[in-house]
Amino acid sequence: MFRLDEKTAVVTGGGSGIGKAVAQVFAAQGAFVHIVDLSVANATACLHELQQNGGKGMAHTCDVSDQQQVNVLFAKIGKLDILVNNAGIAHVGNVENTGEADFDRVFNVNVKGVYNCLHAAVPLMKQNGGGAILNLSSIAAVTGIADRFAYSMSKGAVHAMSLSVARDYIKDHIRSNTISPARVHTPFVDGFITKNYPGREAEMFDKLSKSQPIGRMGTVDEVAKLILYLCSDEAAFITGNDYSIDGGFIKL
Ligand code: NAD
Repeated sequence: MFRLDEKTAVVTGGGSGIGKAVAQVFAAQGAFVHIVDLSVANATACLHELQQNGGKGMAHTCDVSDQQQVNVLFAKIGKLDILVNNAGIAHVGNVENTGEADFDRVFNVNVKGVYNCLHAAVPLMKQNGGGAILNLSSIAAVTGIADRFAYSMSKGAVHAMSLSVARDYIKDHIRSNTISPARVHTPFVDGFITKNYPGREAEMFDKLSKSQPIGRMGTVDEVAKLILYLCSDEAAFITGNDYSIDGGFIKL
């Protein structure tokens, strides 16, 4: 079940956290995985781990917010079956303390980065007779997490882009879905705690874990397995949808 033999996948932000776990699980299911990240060290480390486990792939340095870099990358990749738009950044602040530079930085990665990859990937998928796209949104898009104005806005845009692509390319056999995680334990979360609560890391980790209805953060493996399912042929009937993976955050 959920085998990806003969499939070529791109995972942006594949050098860390959720993206890294997705790259590993895709490779374990037989996909050739292009690991795309700003950090060459992280992308290469992810590739080595994947190869040590018998997987196949390539590491690429690319800033997804730069359309030229993205176009060069996808032209090099050529054949594409699966795209996971995972690269993302956060900013802490409400609308008053989100400056124009903060807004642009978040928008450039989380929105324009997704657009750039979709723009380059869709023609390749059409040539290939179809494909599966998975875009990382967040519960922030639905609930508007406190003090995450730019981030919540950007993840709302990801929902809209994903739906638009699903509608426009359904006849081309391209499926497009989003997932919306609540807090998942990754370097993204550790970095946030260290930066904002120095010296109180353990206390804050515990507090953030308990703030989720289920009493803990998600794990990258739990998220990667949902992404694997949605990108596999077993999910052929699913498009234009969003799946919360949130330990009850939205509904409980
Ligand atoms: P992470 O910080 O651990 O990893 C993100 C990766 O993206 C990093 O390797 C980073 O180098 C890369 N990246 C950042 N900017 C880039 C750019 N311009 N071009 C290419 N690569 C770039 O983050 P994570 O926690 O694994 O989050 C992954 C995705 O999941 C993000 O889109 C995030 O918004 C979303 N998400 C995370 C959580 C969570 O709690 N961790 C919750 C909801 C949604």
